[in-house]
Amino acid sequence: MTLTAGVVAVQGDVSEHAEAIERAAAAHGRESEVVEIRESGLVPDCDALLMPGGESTTISRLIQREGIAGEIIAHVEAGKPLLATCAGLIVASTDAQDDRVETLNLLDVTVERNAFGRQKDSFEAPLDVEGFDEPFPAVFIRAPVIDEVFAGVEVLARWDDNPVAVRQGPVVGTSFHPELTGDSRIHDLAFFDASTR
Ligand code: GLN
Repeated sequence: MTLTAGVVAVQGDVSEHAEAIERAAAAHGRESEVVEIRESGLVPDCDALLMPGGESTTISRLIQREGIAGEIIAHVEAGKPLLATCAGLIVASTDAQDDRVETLNLLDVTVERNAFGRQKDSFEAPLDVEGFDEPFPAVFIRAPVIDEVFAGVEVLARWDDNPVAVRQGPVVGTSFHPELTGDSRIHDLAFFDASTR
């Protein structure tokens, strides 16, 4: 059966995520179709959704304006998987500590924008992720810190004591970019792990 995966594409390029989704699907012997979400009406036909990095204030504004935000919430309420990365995690959280971001309250965590590794904007780190045999090469770009994790949220990975990958029901959030190194294990975990389906 073909997996229809929507990638929220209101801002920026999403081709690396599309490739990672296709690789993850192929590893499970599944066909996949990636749909770029820029308008309402497409999300209801998606089996899985991805909200990528970018600028959370912009993504938040555009998904509200286009009527996509409510569709993402309905998707998760129906128990379908969502992978939210970096700015996507900020938008999916319950509190971004920034009035310009209207959070979707899909992951019960609070975040602080641009607070990770203040000394350097971007870095790559080998992460031990729950259930992975080998460390995951995680690329952090002006990443948010997850500073509070509430009941029901499972921490899948930490860096420097901070949670950097979390899961709550069908939602997986990462403060790093999992699409930049050709390693599709995070996409696999979010969309194909039995415990998230
Ligand atoms: N700094 C961005 C924000 O706060 C997130 C960065 C990213 O997605 N790489 O929205």
